[in-house]
Amino acid sequence: MDILNSKFLEGFVRVTDDAFKKGWHERNGGNYSYRIKCEEAESVMDSFSFDREFTPIGVDVPNLAGEYFLVTGSGKFMRNVILDPAANICVIQVDETGKNYRIVWGLTEGGRPTSELPTHLMNHSIKKELTGGRHRVILHSHPTNLIALTYVLENNSDFFTRKLWEGSTECLVVFPDGVGILPWMVPGTDEIGQATATDMQKHSLVLWPFHGVFGSGPTLDETFGLIDTAEKSAEVLVKVYSMGGMKQTITREELIALGKRFGVTPMQSALDLYQ
Ligand code: 13P
Ligand code: ZN
Repeated sequence: MDILNSKFLEGFVRVTDDAFKKGWHERNGGNYSYRIKCEEAESVMDSFSFDREFTPIGVDVPNLAGEYFLVTGSGKFMRNVILDPAANICVIQVDETGKNYRIVWGLTEGGRPTSELPTHLMNHSIKKELTGGRHRVILHSHPTNLIALTYVLENNSDFFTRKLWEGSTECLVVFPDGVGILPWMVPGTDEIGQATATDMQKHSLVLWPFHGVFGSGPTLDETFGLIDTAEKSAEVLVKVYSMGGMKQTITREELIALGKRFGVTPMQSALDLYQ
């Protein structure tokens, strides 16, 4: 089958377009990756060519050896993906050592995978291990309200998590593990990849202050929904703070009751931060 007719590529393209329309992807902002299932890769193998050289990833991801990923191109505009997927995204294959990759499809007008590839692959590596292979998607976007809050709220994982849980009742259920937050760091480096992956051991959302967010999940829908839910709460919080701040909120006891009703275990340190 031609990869352009495959369901997994169609789903990937749909999410890039949805997210652009949400306003999360100005210019080339943000980047997406999907760890392709074996049977999906086999079904589109005719579209791949294996004549390119392997190049270093910059980080070691031995548990991703031989895997294929659908990845957005560096400097490519998210809004253009739907118009011409083959020119704006690519499939990469990781080599048998987990140190190198090569492009096997796409980027027909030149280019290379996202500059955040080290972060994407390190996150995939950690999440594949922690979820027994269930997580397959890493999305990085620039949602306005989450970014705005990083200028105003204390940049601390417990505090940020607690406020996002208070910003909308569904949040604790959708991300009981809370959000991680890094110090400001230069993007596109192996160091920020390492730091993000460390936070991904505890959370499925990691904020980069004054920049954006990384989300991890089992499917494109789930991961898009995760960021969408956090951003919705952030929008509520921005409005609340702009109107003079909270006069009442969801209490600690109510958050605990929510967790019990929906069978999730909320991040304890965020619950314990205050009453
Ligand atoms: P790329 O165009 O290289 O994917 O970078 C965009 C971005 O958001 C960097 O963090
Ligand atoms: Zn970015």
